Amino acid sequence: NVKFKSDIEIAQEAKMEPIIKIAAELNLTEDDLELYGKYKAKLSSETIQKLQTKESGKIILVTAINPTPAGEGKSTVTVGLGDALHKLNKKVMIALREPSLGPTMGIKGGATGGGYAQVLPMEDINLHFTGDFHAITTANNALAALIDNHLQQGNELRIDQRRIVWKRAVDLNDRALRKVIVGLGGPVQGVPREDGFDITVASEIMAVLCLATDLQNLKQRLANMIVAYNVDKEPVTVADLGVEGALTLLLKDAIKPNLVQTIEHTPALVHGGPFANIAHGCNSAIATVTASKLADYVVTEAGFGADLGAEKFLNIKTRAAGFKPEAVVIVATIRALKMHGGVAKSELANESIEGLRAGFENLRKHAETIQSFGLPFVVAINKFITDTDKEVKTLLELCEKYSLPVELTEVWEKGGAGGISLAQRVLEVIEKGQSNFSPLYQLADSIEDKITTIVQKVYGGSKVEFSSKAKKQLADFERFGWSNLPVCMAKTQYSLSDNPTRLGRPTDFTVTVRELKPSIGAGFIVVLTGDVMTMPGLPKAPAALKMDVDADGNPIGLF
Ligand code: ADP
Repeated sequence: NVKFKSDIEIAQEAKMEPIIKIAAELNLTEDDLELYGKYKAKLSSETIQKLQTKESGKIILVTAINPTPAGEGKSTVTVGLGDALHKLNKKVMIALREPSLGPTMGIKGGATGGGYAQVLPMEDINLHFTGDFHAITTANNALAALIDNHLQQGNELRIDQRRIVWKRAVDLNDRALRKVIVGLGGPVQGVPREDGFDITVASEIMAVLCLATDLQNLKQRLANMIVAYNVDKEPVTVADLGVEGALTLLLKDAIKPNLVQTIEHTPALVHGGPFANIAHGCNSAIATVTASKLADYVVTEAGFGADLGAEKFLNIKTRAAGFKPEAVVIVATIRALKMHGGVAKSELANESIEGLRAGFENLRKHAETIQSFGLPFVVAINKFITDTDKEVKTLLELCEKYSLPVELTEVWEKGGAGGISLAQRVLEVIEKGQSNFSPLYQLADSIEDKITTIVQKVYGGSKVEFSSKAKKQLADFERFGWSNLPVCMAKTQYSLSDNPTRLGRPTDFTVTVRELKPSIGAGFIVVLTGDVMTMPGLPKAPAALKMDVDADGNPIGLF
């Protein structure tokens, strides 16, 4: 029973280098940075612009099997792989999402990696960081206030107040705000109407910021966002309200990526963090592209399993940002595979070869999906100390049997040193030059066809059914000229199907599309296949109960 240090203990013991020194490794000087204290900096707009013409490095995407409560460790492996490449003297950068405060205060577990594979300063990154999420929240709520003011001042655009789709936002898990009534109190207090709050990471502005290629593109995307429908049921946009300039102004600094470092001083850009269900679940396009201009290798991550995060990274983000990845790493843990194979969470500590064999099918499906995009991959087994030798051996044999390239990683325990074989394998795969990437569907395909392609090729389902509401929306969207947009699937992350209880590799299932939601600013059509939570609640014992700060201002209990 070894006692392991917590993530925050390891992070607080680590010694950071001044961020200027980390930047110097990337040939950046202080003039290229906007410093936020000693250990965080934003890259200046001029620098980002200047880098555009440079040749791009190779982009490595880290994804995973379907998440289970047993944990996978995608961020941990992303950071550890970056550190391992750094140890091999490669010019490398990591690109990660910024954590949302909602889950941070709610469920134990930050989003800055774990063990000896973490980005620092983890406390700042998990709390307010450089204020990007606050800026996004403010822009979101400025727009809400401007809509309500428009109603109050005579409603020139003839907005149907029952059809306002723009909601307010806060970066917390606060279920009491899911549905609210605003404008109560009489004529001078506004127009009473039903409203609601989403968590900031579910705001379309988050998705917009993360897909924008520059400030002008950001403004255009904001202008295109739909806020409501008028009494003729035609869309009303931000451009109709004439406030895209003000919103862009509020986001002028939030659009610049944040430079930080890992425990081993590998440079990392941590920027943006959209939901991986109603949005695309990847860090900003600007951060990934900028990292690829600064380094020869970029290790980046997409949310949830390969059926959600990687699918969207590959079908949505690559198109918006204009790059092609070279290789994919699929993270799996023996614990999670056992759960996919029917082992209960309470039994995970016990060896189960049958469970592992059955659960392996989930990993196999994701490997096939990545292949269908024309991409080479390596399976990374994120080793837990509870994994038995026999289980490890079985998983390696199964990978060999089905020709899945595989490496064990121990980056959580050992940092970059625990990821050397994975890094070498990834480099080998890249050097072979097998990447023949193309998205799975054409933008010109109909929305129905795009959805069907994803359901059949990525989820392994047989067919798609559309509710009558969705069918009517498809006709409207055709009329509004939105059919050429990519689709952004909102599906449970736990199963390849739309039923969260069907683990492993379900087959012969139908996916039901309940409703569509146009995110025209982000540039995709959200496809809702079940109930999707856009404002989470807190659990019975939220992580906040363990948090504190000592007399010197040092955070306690932040995992
Ligand atoms: P994901 O990105 O898949 O959500 P993270 O990388 O954020 O997962 O890891 C989730 C949690 O699991 C973190 O607290 C991390 O410390 C822990 N973790 C990751 N890998 C391991 C491992 N090999 N052994 C023990 N704990 C781990």
